[in-house]
Amino acid sequence: MNSIILKGRAKINLTLDVVGKRDNGYHDLKMIMQTVNLYDTIYIRKTKVLGVRLKSNYSWLPTNEKNIAYKAAELFFKESGIDGGVAIEITKRIPVAAGLAGGSTDAAATLVGLNRLYETHYSKEKLMEMGLQLGADVPFCIARGTMLAEGIGEELTPLTPMPTTYVVLVKPPFSASTAAVYKELDINNIKEHPKTDVVIQALEEGNVQEIANNMSNVLEDVTISMYPEIAKIKEEFMQQGAMGTMMSGSGSTVFGLFETEEAAQKACKYFKVNHDIREVYVTTTYSPSSSNTKLHQNRKKGPRRRGVK
Ligand code: ATP
Repeated sequence: MNSIILKGRAKINLTLDVVGKRDNGYHDLKMIMQTVNLYDTIYIRKTKVLGVRLKSNYSWLPTNEKNIAYKAAELFFKESGIDGGVAIEITKRIPVAAGLAGGSTDAAATLVGLNRLYETHYSKEKLMEMGLQLGADVPFCIARGTMLAEGIGEELTPLTPMPTTYVVLVKPPFSASTAAVYKELDINNIKEHPKTDVVIQALEEGNVQEIANNMSNVLEDVTISMYPEIAKIKEEFMQQGAMGTMMSGSGSTVFGLFETEEAAQKACKYFKVNHDIREVYVTTTYSPSSSNTKLHQNRKKGPRRRGVK
């Protein structure tokens, strides 16, 4: 095999709670993460020239070691001791710096792709361990599905997969800085913590309306204080008939869950026309068939969580 093409899917949060802060500044999280079908395409080709070359359809995205997929390839060659050369082409569709783990999923796909291309037969757990060296969300992007993420996001427990649901993603034309949002968060002054257990129970019952009713993200208030438009988008999602709506991660993407494709498309059109927002997507929740294997990732090396300090 000389080349491989993979999908790197985005994630949304169904809940996001901050339960503590460590001495080193990292926050302890408790969140339910859900993979969705909006994806970047990652094409990897072996080259005679050694080393990593990378390009993407966004001219402004870094193509050197500042790109997390580039770093993933370098890490793979270092860990495996393989003297390889690859050209990576990323077609981005996932909005960047949007709370959708776009970079993490590209890194995850790169590790999975190189493992297949070079037939290194690393287990999923080993790849997740490698991924954790690149970022706290990378292990989840390798595991995918519906998971409870704890620690800094790397301790993963598979949950009952969410029934396939329509999701509309709205990425406003501004990006929230993850670092700034966490800096502003006062963990001793969180108004209401998400009812994580209620959502887990709703997942077990396959009750999407109950999931939608209990979605909650403690970062929302902080990001809304910086960008009030997020609250307006949420309001409008409900007016458009969403089952529930929430901001993903530290933002700025807001999503709504919908019962039918028709309702989702209608809401999508509404935001495109009324808000003139370009980045609006209709997608669905995704679950890999193998997502019921118990995956538990323990922190080994110092992970790099951009900005979550
Ligand atoms: P998370 O939800 O994990 O916090 P995010 O969706 O908020 O992630 P990303 O899309 O991963 O954020 O982008 C964050 C930063 O990472 C951007 O400023 C971008 O320049 C940089 N970056 C590096 N590599 C990539 C990549 N392959 N795709 C997107 N962004 C990348």
